Amino acid sequence: MTEFTKIRNFCIISHIDHGKSTLADRFLELTQTIPKEKMQPQYLDMMGLEREKGITIKMHPCRMLYQEYILNLIDTPGHIDFSYEISRALAAVEGAILLVDATKGIQAQTLFNLEMAQKQNLKIIGAVNKIDSSSAKVSEAITELSQLLKVPEKEIFAISAKNGTNVRELLRAVVEKIPAPLAPEAPSLPKALIFDSKYDSFFGVIAYVRVFASEIKKGEKIYLMRANSETEAKEIGYFLPELKETQTLKAGEIGYIKTGIKNPGAIKVGETIIKTNGQISKIEPLPEYQEPQSVLFLSLYSKEPEKFSDLKEGLSKLKLNDPALYFESETKYLFGQGFKCGFLGSLHAEITIRRLKEDFDLDIITTYPQVIFKILTKTGKEISIFSPADFPDPSLIEKIKEPWVKLKIITPFSYFNSVFKLIENFKGVLLETNSFGLNKCILIAEAPLKEILVKNFYEKLKNITSGYASFSFENIGCRIADLVKLDVFIAGEKHDVFSKIIDKEDVYSEGKAVVEKLKEILPAQQFSFKIQAGISKRIIASETIQAKRKDVTAPLYGGDVTRKRKLLEIQKRGKKELKKKGKITLSANVYLEMLKG
Ligand code: GDP
Ligand code: MG
Repeated sequence: MTEFTKIRNFCIISHIDHGKSTLADRFLELTQTIPKEKMQPQYLDMMGLEREKGITIKMHPCRMLYQEYILNLIDTPGHIDFSYEISRALAAVEGAILLVDATKGIQAQTLFNLEMAQKQNLKIIGAVNKIDSSSAKVSEAITELSQLLKVPEKEIFAISAKNGTNVRELLRAVVEKIPAPLAPEAPSLPKALIFDSKYDSFFGVIAYVRVFASEIKKGEKIYLMRANSETEAKEIGYFLPELKETQTLKAGEIGYIKTGIKNPGAIKVGETIIKTNGQISKIEPLPEYQEPQSVLFLSLYSKEPEKFSDLKEGLSKLKLNDPALYFESETKYLFGQGFKCGFLGSLHAEITIRRLKEDFDLDIITTYPQVIFKILTKTGKEISIFSPADFPDPSLIEKIKEPWVKLKIITPFSYFNSVFKLIENFKGVLLETNSFGLNKCILIAEAPLKEILVKNFYEKLKNITSGYASFSFENIGCRIADLVKLDVFIAGEKHDVFSKIIDKEDVYSEGKAVVEKLKEILPAQQFSFKIQAGISKRIIASETIQAKRKDVTAPLYGGDVTRKRKLLEIQKRGKKELKKKGKITLSANVYLEMLKG
């Protein structure tokens, strides 16, 4: 049994790719948690998708023994879409290592993560990583980081997570500088925080907890304060990082509780666990995490409509350890029953869809992603628009508003001009520029959220700066916008799923692009038909697909001209008939092709 004074709970935080998972590997080796021969790079990234994309999506707790200490490490994702994951990890620990890649220096998420950690009053240890790299600018990075943390340069660790240089010294600093958990006031009532959870089809919900007071024993009844429901700690244990059963989790410790609860939605992250509801009046719940707010919406349908319930189950299970995932059933399009889904950003959406495909074996049709627009109607009502299908008739609209964000972009000076142009292309406005560190600047700009999310600002910024610039953003509320709904007609029939809400100034370019793309994808029919894009009934762009022409005169080579003309006449009449009936059913592949990307 360990004294709480011998426990250290900490996270590693940084911008994406600065080496958190690699550093975690070295810690696992150094503490002999994972024997060297079993080690694979980024060991804690256990999810298939994480391995493939080389990023951490879920946080991964792990308990290590080091000398007489117990170290609980939570590895975290660095990408902006997953910052809610980081905020949860931060609430369960007392300190954090802030890692900066010496080849890149401080980046936007470095600042963003640091601010979150400082809000939790965590002890921060600064470390500059990748000092082995030939493009590392170690002293520059150390200067930047020491200025940021307001500590002397000698307090910044210069490490190579890859080679292990100075990693032992850094781990020593974790023990020495990060405070032990606060002494539990004796005698105290048990209290624990659920900072994450996982669904297992056999064991049900497994809650990841940090115990803040007293202890929880195997077999005990536990009570969830917010859900107001009772359950049992069927099994408890630690993360090694695989689950290792134990008998008691004491104050200051991090571990898991198998609850046996089979309803994935029953346990929410941020929940406080106590022992019986008899204590409820005596206990203050732990401060809850902020519910993450979805900002990007799209609809998901199974390509095979009969798999609706599989899709529902898949989403429910993903939601269990992804509280930021929002979904609600709908039947808006021709694909039967599906879901309106909300996400924190495009990477979050992409990963969710990939997990549905890979982990649940579903073929998914997704509609165009969209942010939430607000419309004030002539009758004075404000409505939220989550998809083009909700867009009212223009004659009913008084005002339209769209969400805007404040961008903080960090870039080396040498890319300033390209970044400035990019901001303009994304309809943003540059507000101020400040120099930062030795050769960088911070640009503060404002832009419509739809530009940033839907048109993938993140990728473009990375491309034009060879990965050296980075950004973060925060919501700054809605502003008046001049938006219209662009509809798509195929053979005169409107196809709602291809509609988009766009800036009025973009209707010609967007209209042209969509009809041209459809022209490429749609197969020809027995009759000719039009593909059009328009606003209400006004057509903006149009293309025609000519009829498939079967050569009915072929058997008459060289022969009778009047007969040939007659046959062509008959064919033409037949096609007219067809065209009158002419309804075009699009195949699922046409939808997939049109809506992808
Ligand atoms: P994370 O996103 O912060 O978890 O970063 P990862 O640990 O996944 O590392 C991102 C990339 O940087 C991987 O390709 C690592 O191999 C590489 N990397 C990590 N640490 C070092 C280091 O000390 N030196 C060098 N040269 N590369 C490193
Ligand atoms: Mg990682």
